[in-house]
Formats: sequence, C-alpha cells, structure tokens
Amino acid sequence: MQGHLKEAVLWKAEGGRVRCSLCSHRCLIADGHTGRCGVRKNVGGTLYSLNYDKVCAAHVDPIEKKPLFHFYPGSRSFSIAAEGCNLRCDFCQNWQISQAPVDAGRIDGEAADPVQIVEAALRSRCRSISYTYTEPTIFMELAADCARLAKDKGLANVFVSNGYQTPEAIDFAADWLDAINVDLKAFTDDYYRRLCKARLQPVLDTIRHIARDTRIWIEVTTLLVPGQNDGEDELKALADWLVQEAGPHVPWHVSRFYPQYRLTEAVPTPLASLQRAFQIGKAAGLHYVYLGNVPGASEENTLCHQCGRLLIERSGYTIVSHHVKDSCCPDCGARVQGVGW
Ligand code: SF4
Repeated sequence: MQGHLKEAVLWKAEGGRVRCSLCSHRCLIADGHTGRCGVRKNVGGTLYSLNYDKVCAAHVDPIEKKPLFHFYPGSRSFSIAAEGCNLRCDFCQNWQISQAPVDAGRIDGEAADPVQIVEAALRSRCRSISYTYTEPTIFMELAADCARLAKDKGLANVFVSNGYQTPEAIDFAADWLDAINVDLKAFTDDYYRRLCKARLQPVLDTIRHIARDTRIWIEVTTLLVPGQNDGEDELKALADWLVQEAGPHVPWHVSRFYPQYRLTEAVPTPLASLQRAFQIGKAAGLHYVYLGNVPGASEENTLCHQCGRLLIERSGYTIVSHHVKDSCCPDCGARVQGVGW
C-alpha cells in the first residue's frame, strides 16, 4: 500500500499523537494510524502523505470540464489525481478512485515525478494543470511540488475541490493556486452530515475566504439531487448567501445528477428543477449562472450581466463563439469578471 513516504505539510505533534490541519476534520492521529482520508499516516510521530507518488489519473481536459467558464476559456488543462478523499459522498462520481483507500484499504497509482508532469502538460499544449477527479487537498504535497514548477514554466494551477480544506491549507496554496472550483453541495448541515459525512460551515468559510481574501479565481458548483437539496427555499438561501458573501460575479454552476455509487435508487435531476435553480440564481442577483451536464442548453452560454448580449456561446465543453473584448462586453463596455479572456 505504501510507496515512497513524503512528509506531510500542515501538522503538529499533540500529546503523543499528531494533529493534521490540512482539512476541517482536523484528525488527531495515533502512531501507526491514518486520518479519515486514509492517505495521511502517523509513523513514529511524523505525519506522512501516502499518495505522493501514486498518480492514478492523467488526462488532457478542456478547462470547461472542471467546470471553469471564466478562466482561460477554450484552453486545455492537464488534469491529474491521486487516490483518496476526505469526504464520503454517497453520490460520488469518481468513487472508484476517491474512496479506494478507505473502502478497499489500498492506494493504487504510478510514480510520476513533478518534473515529468509539468513537461507532459507543456508537451500537450495545456494552459494549466488541474488537480482534480479526487480531492486535491489530500494530495497537497504532490500538488504543491507540481504547481511551483508549473508556475515557473508559465502554467496556471487549478483545484477542483469540495472546499473542506482549512484556512491554513488555502493560505499554504495561495502563492501558486490560480483558480478553484468549489462544490457547495447543499445549503443544509443535515445534507452534509447524512450524505457526505462532513459539515456545511467549513465549506462556506472556504468560499468566503477565497473570494474575499485571496487573488484565487473561484467558481462554485452545486449538484442538484432530487428530493435532497433542490427545495426552492434552500436554493434561494444558497444563492443569496453567494451574492452577499462571495459576490455576484462568482459563477454558479448548477449541475445535473445521475444515479451512482450509493444513490442508485434516485432519479436523474429533471430539467425543470435545473431551470428553476437557474432562475433562482439570477433572481438573487448572481451575474453568471450555468447549467451543467445538460448539453445543448442555452444556459451554458455567458451573457453580459448588464445588457444581456451573448458573450460566449458554448456547446458542452466547446466554445462556439467568443465576443469578450479586453475583458469587457463589446456593446455596453461592462466588465466581464474572470481571467484570461
Ligand atoms: S486531510 Fe483531513 S481527513 Fe485526512 S488526515 Fe488530514 S484532517 Fe484527517
């Protein structure tokens, strides 16, 4: 199970055990044991990352797949993952790799040197490296080593995250992390506890901290699970919170659920529910609301929040037309928030 042990970041000794402060579980770990994620282990009083040299996925993706719609639109992102996650979502779409360390007690993957990863990203003409598919926070050591090299070579770095990291972890990454998509999976603590074995408040704290206190570009995604998090009042409260605490310019992706992992009895999200969420987001004052996993929907397009002009037309992950000029709407001149237009 263990390959090369890499000393972990963000931990300290505490009463004969070690306290990990990478994510909001803040596990207190006895010698010989791992934290809840199953990939950080106390060995003789030192905390180690067990997945540093175990890359389990590497693909070239459109940045729109993350999803990031306002960050170098139309560019390619070299996307890597290592196994493990700090959440246990019943609806996880990548459960084979995210839950393996806990479900199966094993960590699969191949050694890949950060230098090789950055070279592969450059060779495949990517604009960024994304740390994605599983939770990047729990492979922070690998991500940090890649990201620092990537930045030196002119590449941007992207996290696709559940937002459960601590403020210390965000600050640790702030020098080299350029953009993040954070899942805001629901707006009730009950949902996070029942379906994800986590809590809501740390995710809200992450979104607020990134949006207000860092230069990291942030977009937010909510997977709508029928009957679980799609109530009108809940979605209104979520959208109002985003406007007030993160800002109206933060793009909100409302994504369609398909049954999987432990939620195979549920039904796919009806299109009408997604469209209702879209309207709720717009009515709350969010400038950019998008539907995800609904190819061909007009709600994939970017419109000027001021005059309504079509700015970016999309079909799935493909840019069909692009009209943003010098980061502004060509008709009314309103600024279009984002990076790398
Ligand atoms: S990353 Fe989170 S779940 Fe894993 S050991 Fe650290 S605090 Fe625990």
